[in-house]
Amino acid sequence: MSKAAVCVDFSKPLEIQDVEVRQPGPGEVLVRMVASGICHTDLHSTRGDWPVKSPLPFIAGHEGVGIVEAVGEGTIRKVGERVCIPWLGYACGHCRYCVSGWETLCPNQIQNGFARDGAFAEYAVVDGNWCGLVPDNVSSQDAAPLVCAGVTTYKAVKVSELKSAEVAAVWGVGGLGHLALQYARIAGGTAIGVDIAEDKLELATQLGAEHVVNAAATDPVKAIQDLGGADVSIVLSPNETVFNQALAALRPGGRLVCVALPAGGGTLSVPIFDTVLYGKRIIGSIVGTRNDLDDTMALHAAGRTKVISMGVGLEDINHSFELMLAGKIPARHVITEF
Ligand SMILES: [Zn+2]
Ligand SMILES: [Zn+2]
Repeated sequence: MSKAAVCVDFSKPLEIQDVEVRQPGPGEVLVRMVASGICHTDLHSTRGDWPVKSPLPFIAGHEGVGIVEAVGEGTIRKVGERVCIPWLGYACGHCRYCVSGWETLCPNQIQNGFARDGAFAEYAVVDGNWCGLVPDNVSSQDAAPLVCAGVTTYKAVKVSELKSAEVAAVWGVGGLGHLALQYARIAGGTAIGVDIAEDKLELATQLGAEHVVNAAATDPVKAIQDLGGADVSIVLSPNETVFNQALAALRPGGRLVCVALPAGGGTLSVPIFDTVLYGKRIIGSIVGTRNDLDDTMALHAAGRTKVISMGVGLEDINHSFELMLAGKIPARHVITEF
């Protein structure tokens, strides 16, 4: 049996239950969880907030880190390896997206913690070929947030094509934002942290942001335009207003990278005239590939990123969700007790 936080109803808190652990089938691995990060996506998916919903009941969690305890036939993973369980739990490998390095867009994909049970449990059975390896010198608690928050923002900076002389505004300095700022600086860019909480802006400064903007105290569009405008705006806050502000804060040639997923889907209103005249681009970016995940881990193993997190128990998960909704989480809660 495995203790798990199960979503039984979108309108109810997660239930801590003992669930059956099945043996891994072909291609699968059985992972004993050591750490499991709690992402904003888990909050939305377990409340049924989006146009697409997981069938009930299900176990969320897609920032899992654990030890392989058993393997099925035909997986590259081995017993004893420390692996991670990311959102992208399978892609077909044959479609036009998979063969062109865009496995994240595969129409046949299966997401861990959504289409298949995920990492909010003592044990998970997932596709072994889609589990990344965690480098030896990266702690499990650090690794967990990298599995979604890290890879997602690493990818967002990558698709933004941020150059060393450019400025990136990061909208929302939480679990994703605190890493996005660091990847923007690793790419050589200047980083602006935007948030509505002073403690998060202090964190942004500690992590190297050259500028911070408190969007509750000042008009962030004006503040950023006063600095010359942003070449890149990365939106990590699931708030429609923020998407519109992030677009308006761009300078000519700027790129808006949409990462957060607002409840209900969300709508962005785009002024066509400005978009054409100023050559602006709008890019959607969803998680990252297995290569991106390996890159994210390698950067951390090389000491180039810092993960801010707090360990919690599996039983505390509903409390973590409440704190997350209230914006009171210092970057990331990671389940370290199961
Ligand atoms: Zn996530
Ligand atoms: Zn595919």
